[in-house]
Formats: sequence, C-alpha cells, structure tokens
Amino acid sequence: MTLFSPIEMAPRDPILGLNEAFNADTRADKVNLGVGVYYDENGKVPLLRAVQTAEEARVAEHAARAYLPMEGLAPYDQAVQTLLFGTDSPLLQSGKLITAQALGGTGALKLGADFLYRLLDKRLVAISDPSWENHRALFEAAGFEVVNYPYYNPTTHGVDLEGMLQGIEALPEGSVVLLHACCHNPTGADLSFADWTRVIDVVQRRKHVPFLDIAYQGFGDNLQDDAIAVRLFAESGLPMFIASSFSKSFSLYGERVGALTLVTESKVESAMVMSQLKRVIRTNYSNPPTHGAKVVAKVLTDPALYELWEEELAEMRDRIRLMRQALVEKLKAAGVTSDVEFIQHQRGMFSYSGLTQLQVATLAEDFGIYAVGSGRICVAALNHGNIDHVANAMAQVLLTT
Ligand code: PLP
Repeated sequence: MTLFSPIEMAPRDPILGLNEAFNADTRADKVNLGVGVYYDENGKVPLLRAVQTAEEARVAEHAARAYLPMEGLAPYDQAVQTLLFGTDSPLLQSGKLITAQALGGTGALKLGADFLYRLLDKRLVAISDPSWENHRALFEAAGFEVVNYPYYNPTTHGVDLEGMLQGIEALPEGSVVLLHACCHNPTGADLSFADWTRVIDVVQRRKHVPFLDIAYQGFGDNLQDDAIAVRLFAESGLPMFIASSFSKSFSLYGERVGALTLVTESKVESAMVMSQLKRVIRTNYSNPPTHGAKVVAKVLTDPALYELWEEELAEMRDRIRLMRQALVEKLKAAGVTSDVEFIQHQRGMFSYSGLTQLQVATLAEDFGIYAVGSGRICVAALNHGNIDHVANAMAQVLLTT
C-alpha cells in the first residue's frame, strides 16, 4: 500500500472529455460547439485591441512586481463597482460597497462561498435548474448543501417564472439564492425587468441571501441593461453578493480577472466584513495577480480605451446575434419545420438547442460536430466557414431522429 494507491480516478469532466474527443477527430470539417469561450469569425479567441493597447503601455512602464493588497488593485476594484452599479449610483460613495479582486468569476464565487460558510449556520444554496455545471460542485466543495430551483421551461424555451418564484419561496428562510444576472448559462433564457422585481420581492420576504453571478455583462443587450438585476437588487437595499468576471467581456480567460463585490448596510459594517474577507483571501492565495487587473483597470478608466472596448464588445455581441439568425434561417432552408426561432431570442454565448442526448451523439459520430450532452451549443463557435455544415447536419439529425 502506497500513499496514493487508494486513490481512484475522478469522474471525467464532461466538457474536457468532449474536447479530447474533438481533438482526436481527424475530419477536416469538425466543429467544437461544446466550448465556453467566444471565438471570432476566424475561429480564434480574439485579443481585443483595447487590451493590446493597454498591455503595450504596461510593458513600456517596466514596472516592478510588488505584491498587491489582499483585496487587489484599488482602481480595478473601483472600476468594477462603477461598471456594476453605473456611474450615477449613490452606492459608489456610500461606503456600503466592498470589492475584492478575484481569480476570475470562479474565484469570486469561491471567495463568496468560503465567506458565507463562516457566516451562516444554515449552509444551503439554491441554484437554477439547470445551471453552469461548476456552481453545484463549487458550493458543495465549500461545504454547502446545494438544491435546485426550477428555471427552464423546455416547452417555451424560456424561463419558468412561476416555478422559479415558488421554488425560491419554498426554500428555508435565509437560504443563499444564486442567480445568473444575464445571459444564463447554459440556457440563454433570461428574466425581464418585471420578472426581476418579482424575484427580488420573494428573496426579500423570505430573508434569503442573494448571490448574483454576472459573467457575461455586455453580451446580452449592452453593459448597462445587462446589469439591471444587480442594480434592482441594489435599489432594494438588500445586502448581497456579486461575482463578476472579465474573462469573456475582455477575452482575458487565462489572466483570471474577476471580482467579488458585497453590498453591506453601512460603512462600519463594510470595514468589518472586509477584514473578514481578507482572512479568507490571505489563507487561500494571499493576494491576487497584477497583470490582468492592471490591463482591465487601464481600459475601464481611460475614456478612449473604454470606448474602443465597448465597440469591440458590441462586435462580439453582434456577431453572435448574426450567427443565431443565420442558424435559424439555414435550419429552415434545410427543411426543419419544428420551432427553432427560440435560438434567435436566447441571449449570450449559448443556446439550449433542444437537441437530445442521442441527437448530440449522432452529430458527433456522423458529422464531427461536438456539443454538450444537454444540447447546449456555443453560438460563439459558429462562423461563416462552418455554419452551413452545422446547419445541414443539425437539420438532418432533427429530421431523422
Ligand atoms: N459563472 C458562469 C455562469 C460562467 O458561465 C462562467 C464561465 O464559464 C463563470 C462563472 C466563470 O468564469 P471565469 O472563467 O471568469 O472563472
């Protein structure tokens, strides 16, 4: 018996397994729709011009590499708050906001989970059914019991609002409720302004703890409208947690740039909460890395670079929309008569296509087109070079299975 001999192989990550199968496929026209990143028209992860400019300026500075404070770079944390709440928000000057730079959106969720674990007696978190697959695993790993609230209605391809409200209502008082602020992953189905007010009402009445995950700000309508859930919750005066990420909106996946923001009830409370949050940070990774935060802070605080970034974000958003529209048109042209219009109305990078597990397997086997078993496809992986192949294959599968 050796130290490691009792260890068994962990279950394979379904998405990584899919990538392996895709890489092993030798067909020239293979397409990977299982990815969770934005690809440009050339099928590449883009380097944004705003990012490149900010990076060049940073290299030219030849700056020394001291440690950042535990909570990260101050101008970055402030810029995160402005982006989330809007330049005119009274919260910005209230002392009620605290932000800690985090290792991507995932790192922000983990910081929040670890913090809540220490704070709460009842460690129950409710996530949407379905949700980003790491939500459950991450909160379970942090010591929480994880349950689902209803979210998706496969018949309407939209949100099951009544089910969601009832599910949140039925949770024990004081539960943590994790909500996708926009561009729901994996379904692409979002709540409207009016829907959010109803959700906030239930969360408030049941004294739940709202935890908003905003990983796709700017991929729905625009930066301001996509933050509506954050801003409505803020207006309600509830204390809340927000995990935000620049992985997608800055195409900075590997730099791990995210943030955890908390809304407290007073300046005094903020100081105490921050001191405890710092303990979580200190005992996890001590302090965050510099590069990504410097680049993002530069872009967010330089008016010309900000404008350029907004344009580039709009380019990404518009290209995805174009691909949604093209996919629907091409599916119809290929003879699909069932309802596929919903693909056009879903928001963000993903579409819950309605493909069954069997249809997904057939797409991979017969056509070299890889999607997640749930039927989630990444619309941002489509381009003019592969969309005909994808649409024709999907049509064939939809018409024959
Ligand atoms: N939250 C959701 C809903 C996501 O889809 C993702 C990434 O796919 C994340 C959080 C994590 O993002 P990051 O790569 O910044 O850790």
